Amino acid sequence: MRAGVLQLLRWGLLDRLMAAHTPPVRHTVFHYGDDDAVHVDIRSDHGVDFLCAPRRTALDPMLVDAAREAGADVRHGVTVMDLAIGPAGHVTGVHLKEAGGTVREVAAGIVIGADGRQSLVARQVGAEAYVEGGHGSGYVYGYYDNMTDDGFHWYFEDGVAAGAIPTNHDQHLVFAAVHRDEFAATFRGDLEGGLMRIAKANSVQLAEDVGKAQLSGRLRGFSCASGHLRQCHGAGWALVGDAAYFKDPLTAHGITDAFRDSELLSRAVIVGREQAFADYQEERDSLSRTLFDVTDAIASFQWSMDQVKTHHGHLSDAMKAETDHIAGFTKLKTIAA
Ligand SMILES: Cc1cc2nc3c(=O)[nH]c(=O)nc-3n(C[C@H](O)[C@H](O)[C@H](O)COP(=O)(O)OP(=O)(O)OC[C@H]3O[C@@H](n4cnc5c(N)ncnc54)[C@H](O)[C@@H]3O)c2cc1C
Repeated sequence: MRAGVLQLLRWGLLDRLMAAHTPPVRHTVFHYGDDDAVHVDIRSDHGVDFLCAPRRTALDPMLVDAAREAGADVRHGVTVMDLAIGPAGHVTGVHLKEAGGTVREVAAGIVIGADGRQSLVARQVGAEAYVEGGHGSGYVYGYYDNMTDDGFHWYFEDGVAAGAIPTNHDQHLVFAAVHRDEFAATFRGDLEGGLMRIAKANSVQLAEDVGKAQLSGRLRGFSCASGHLRQCHGAGWALVGDAAYFKDPLTAHGITDAFRDSELLSRAVIVGREQAFADYQEERDSLSRTLFDVTDAIASFQWSMDQVKTHHGHLSDAMKAETDHIAGFTKLKTIAA
């Protein structure tokens, strides 16, 4: 989404992502039922004039390389087994299991749990989820060759949704979604049949396009848990990304918000005072609540075409406010100085 692209631009990483054959997206279409479509041209705003949907296989290594260049010591194949906790309950480090099986303790001034939705760090510090959603989608998705790239296409029909998203190496991500309560009944035993049925229910044209395209690899299914906003700082620890704030992927905003909150948390770490961490949580919440609530409402699949269109209007307003806010961020180097 635009705010994520803006951050990559500010961090000097957008060119690298585009050099990895990530297609720029300049046009989005929201299809509501058979006969209503809203076309959105991506206009230049804060220096961003396209969106993109990179594969994690392109995005993640690029971020790791950039972190290393910035001085981070990145080690793969290492598992955090549990936290080291001092007598006063202050987190003092982690116990790591290295690739060869050796377990050792690493002391840390602060432990940041960027360890995903089921965060071990969140569990061990008892980080409370003080906002929880009530819904989640069930998805089947795959990557297809030989589809025409004419921007993002999102489809909504009673009780079902789908999308065709251009991504790296001339492929499209195609997904079909229902409420998670319908996931097993829709897809069990026949992912491809389920995906084609949902694609057709949304758009005969989409089903025809997918039918002519070639699936690369296999289809994957995913039934989503409800979203959460968790307490994201405490004595010697902090949380960021899905570990701290998770919402259904139907609004495709998780990576954008993980970027945003990484930068907010970095500022708090640089300042180093407890109040800065409280500010991190407060700023995150004020930027997130509308997006969180709208995402949960969309993931409920309890909407008419007019209602889902209204949800998208609110989403668009919240994303604009988020992008404007991020555009005003002070540079980290300025804070550090
Ligand atoms: C099906 C699906 C589709 C999505 N589509 C989109 C989309 O289109 N756009 C979008 O912006 N977002 C999307 N998202 C959301 C997005 O993937 C997440 O918001 C994002 O990955 C969050 O990043 P993260 O780094 O916080 O967590 P993760 O990407 O989950 O990374 C956490 C990392 O921590 C590691 N880890 C966990 N526990 C330990 C441990 N004990 N020790 C060591 N390492 C550990 C994991 O191996 C993992 O590498 C989607 C999510 C799903 C499930």
